[in-house]
Amino acid sequence: QATPSHPEPISLPPNTSSAKFHDFLRRASAIVGDENVVVVAGDDQLQQQDYMDRSKVHDMFHILEKKDFLHSCTVAPKDVPGVQDIMRLANEMEIPVWPFSMGRNLGYGGAAPRVPGSIGLDMGKNMNKVLKVDADSAYALVEPGVSFFDLHQYLVDHDLRDKVWADCPDLGGGSVIGNTMERGIGYTPYGDHWMMHCGLEVVLPDGSLVRTGMGALPNPNADKSAPPHEQEPNECWQLFNYGFGPHHDGIFSQANNGIVTKMGVWLMPNPGGSQTYMITFPRDDDLNRIVEIMRPLRVSMILQNVPKLDNILVSAAMEGTRSSYTNSSELLTDAELDAIAEKLGLGRWNFYGCIYGPPEVREVFWKVIKEAFSQIPGAKFYFPEDRPHDKALQTRKNTFIGIPSITELDWVSWLPNGGHLFFAPIAKLTGDDAEAQYELTRRRSEEYGFDFLGAFLVGVREIHHIVCILFDREDPEMRTRAHELIKLLIQEAADRGWGEYRAHLALMDQVAGTYNFNDGAHMKLSEKIKDALDPKGILSPGKNGVWPMTYKQYNKQI
Ligand code: ADP
Repeated sequence: QATPSHPEPISLPPNTSSAKFHDFLRRASAIVGDENVVVVAGDDQLQQQDYMDRSKVHDMFHILEKKDFLHSCTVAPKDVPGVQDIMRLANEMEIPVWPFSMGRNLGYGGAAPRVPGSIGLDMGKNMNKVLKVDADSAYALVEPGVSFFDLHQYLVDHDLRDKVWADCPDLGGGSVIGNTMERGIGYTPYGDHWMMHCGLEVVLPDGSLVRTGMGALPNPNADKSAPPHEQEPNECWQLFNYGFGPHHDGIFSQANNGIVTKMGVWLMPNPGGSQTYMITFPRDDDLNRIVEIMRPLRVSMILQNVPKLDNILVSAAMEGTRSSYTNSSELLTDAELDAIAEKLGLGRWNFYGCIYGPPEVREVFWKVIKEAFSQIPGAKFYFPEDRPHDKALQTRKNTFIGIPSITELDWVSWLPNGGHLFFAPIAKLTGDDAEAQYELTRRRSEEYGFDFLGAFLVGVREIHHIVCILFDREDPEMRTRAHELIKLLIQEAADRGWGEYRAHLALMDQVAGTYNFNDGAHMKLSEKIKDALDPKGILSPGKNGVWPMTYKQYNKQI
């Protein structure tokens, strides 16, 4: 059967002639079907800008040129054997493949690959089923194309929300698998997604298939004549993470050692009630005390969920654009920030949390939390019903109980053509550390001409400090300034022992380079594993700074 001829791509894969690329396309089409192979051939394919109408081929928030990180084509496998066959083909032809699930990956590079011309392996398009929900044992088994919206909707459609909730991040359009593999976070007590995953099914770079943890032990009732990916898994696969022997899951997270085709995720039992609250703190220099009060409460889990402490502009940006607050292009001064807080009835710092359990349990928790934070003069306490028009608070009320939305996108529109980048260092959960990170990141942001928008997301013993660098996508000078700023922040943070938990494509090499204890021992280990599993170096070369030996000669300059 004749296949239609494909157009020329904007970017060819490295070391690949046009003829070889077209040969690849023909063979890939035979595996996944023509309708699942799309060549990135023209600028008209690079126009998507919206979260809900996302690009699967370039980074919608690019800080370099749009074409610097671009797929040559996307290939969407229909099933697990399709993924395996594509990996075998990529090995044979030595063409790099970059998997993504939904491809949103907001602020970290979107669906785009590190090496231009890679094959974008669109895992989410066809493999998008919730395979199982066990509400009694409280877990789900999902495929790559299941978004947080989808998983939530599944629970709603099957009347399961009174039994279990699925945690979700700020925005619901990401893939449960993609976000978890990147160690993204949400806000219920199950907010650490990687901690709450249980069991992976992975296609290795050579095309072989592995189940981790208890998944390695066959289910005695499984039909052994079925292909492995269809065999009924061990009944404890989603119940106990570790199985026996080395626990391999970690080598697939923020990594380029395998492609996840199924993942188990723990669901949170419905706690029998919840109460979202907001506490506002009037002064910029309240930060130190807020965090000091927070630590013992969080470590002992009196603060039950992942709470969020926003500086005033994060909340303000949800309510309006920059131009709705000021006509000036000068940076906002402290006096102006105070005025914005006053106008919105908020503090310079605004703390959002949630209490879970039946009313009598919540009452006890609330008493302790309120008493503790009342030590800060001027602290004010609110429930969502006190502020029905407060977008941030109303949205968080939902996020805190696993109901996803996209409202948080509003703050990206702070500037026209809003693009953004996250500088996301981990901080000790102490007032001094939070204050020191705030001082450095705000000072440098302002020196580079950016208003400071920052949020502290509190894990159990640390803070994910998320500094949002917002820029105008259509302003190349501003984009360059944002890039210069974040490079400086990465270096200065590392000099003080602070490292990022995640990074944009353009910054992965630099961040990886800061994790260099004992002459880069960690990277040497990562490279050894990479080269052993993927000797041709075809799976996501350069991801998180891990380059295979086959890319020694490749020009990594960006
Ligand atoms: P989002 O879930 O935000 O839409 P992506 O789907 O783009 O994000 O995934 C983010 C990153 O996670 C990808 O760039 C890729 O490195 C990794 N990833 C996503 N899906 C998989 C997968 N199925 N297997 C391995 N890595 C994946």
